[in-house]
Amino acid sequence: MTREGVEATPTETIEIPPASGRAVTLAKGDRLRVVDVEGSQVADVVAFAADGEREAFSQSFTRILLDRVDVRVGDSLLTAAGEPLLTVVDDTVGVHDILFGPCNQMLYERVFGVSGKTGCREHLAEALEPYGIGHERVTDPFNAFMNTRIGDDNRMTILPPTSRAGDHVDLRADRDVIVAVSACAADVNDCNAGVLTGIRLEIFRDGTKP
Ligand SMILES: [Zn+2]
Repeated sequence: MTREGVEATPTETIEIPPASGRAVTLAKGDRLRVVDVEGSQVADVVAFAADGEREAFSQSFTRILLDRVDVRVGDSLLTAAGEPLLTVVDDTVGVHDILFGPCNQMLYERVFGVSGKTGCREHLAEALEPYGIGHERVTDPFNAFMNTRIGDDNRMTILPPTSRAGDHVDLRADRDVIVAVSACAADVNDCNAGVLTGIRLEIFRDGTKP
């Protein structure tokens, strides 16, 4: 039972070390709190329906159906069929990204000339391997705490996050889902303000709420 002003204890807590990913299953109604532990750290979040074809969260169709490029409290992360997977129910930051794909080995090589460095796409795929979800399906994150802009020249810019230690965004499962989250590995630009830190997942099951 949650009393006013008293934080409920999560059913489960998962610490994601810097530059790595973890996956978790949520039942409909469960809540996932994504915590920026030290501040200025982006968390890439991908989601899949737990049943059927494991339909994925779609950045592009979420943008189209929201008719904007940001995600706010009350908004749902949608599949390409327009079905909600997760809904944002609390948010202490209000700055997130649904424009960029996950950082990955190809981008590090092609854009930054860094060879052999794995990124969020590889780390999310590794976490999703037990669920039979492969690298080719990890394309479309909700980039929590990522601070991006589209300029007057239409270029996309990555700015340092505005999130501080302990900031969080809460996602409620709209159906049974598989969610993977990575502590973004990008240390080559402002994405994580130049320092890679960890992300904590707090999971509230069976109707408990933070
Ligand atoms: Zn990343």
